[in-house]
Amino acid sequence: MAETRIALVTGANRGIGLEIVRQLSRVGLLAVLCSRDVDKGREAAAKLASEGLEPPVVALDVTSDESISAAVDEVMNLFGRIDVLVNNAGVLWEGQSPDDSKVLDVSPQLVRETYDTNAIGPLRMIKAVVPIMLKGEYGRVVNVSSGAGQLSDMQSGYPAYRMSKAALNALTRVTAAELGPVPIKVNAMCPGWVRTEMGGPNATRTVEQGAETAVWLSTLPDTGPTGGFFRDKAPIPW
Ligand code: NAP
Repeated sequence: MAETRIALVTGANRGIGLEIVRQLSRVGLLAVLCSRDVDKGREAAAKLASEGLEPPVVALDVTSDESISAAVDEVMNLFGRIDVLVNNAGVLWEGQSPDDSKVLDVSPQLVRETYDTNAIGPLRMIKAVVPIMLKGEYGRVVNVSSGAGQLSDMQSGYPAYRMSKAALNALTRVTAAELGPVPIKVNAMCPGWVRTEMGGPNATRTVEQGAETAVWLSTLPDTGPTGGFFRDKAPIPW
């Protein structure tokens, strides 16, 4: 029987990340619920207990090399492998409307801090986890990006968020290109506009819908794509 795949999901104490943990657990992976506040992570995991799911909870702040290193060590000590990385943790600090933040007003400090979570966080995670995947000769990296980062359809507003997600898309492409034809697949996805703390109550999609493509990319067969950008399991322009 095949060994259980171990998945790390960042920012999984709520929203789309928690739902990705739920869906990955349902399809038989051992999904580690990573949360920068471990107590919030445990509270989130408790919500899944009624469904018979008991994801392990690990403290992980994607802006801290020390935190990432401790989390990866903890997971390796517990399970000895990491097969799937979902870079889901993200921040949007520019309000709920595109008019709330514009290029001429945004502070470079806010842009820098947004990058630290949304683009450099995934870079740190990839650097910590992909060497383990290379040793295991298997890996699926899923970068939870956004249509807001699409250069082909760039609109106004949210400059820090848009720039950080465009950078995450670039990270997806360059990582996939550098890894080339090894059994590690690196893809980006857009969940759509989802009802979470970030998406707000008027968003059009449920977390179940938002998580679906990330789960599909986390469990791609060996014949699946790498270096792509997807929404609803279909390619979208960069
Ligand atoms: P959310 O409800 O605001 O959740 C964001 C998660 O990221 C929280 O668990 C948060 O933890 C975590 N996080 C933030 N900074 C972190 C850090 N430094 N280290 C570790 N975790 C951190 O947002 P969401 O809607 O579920 O978004 C999930 C992903 O989908 C994000 O990457 C977002 O950009 C993307 N996305 C969302 C939408 C949407 O409409 N919702 C659309 C497109 C893309 P705390 O609880 O500790 O803050």
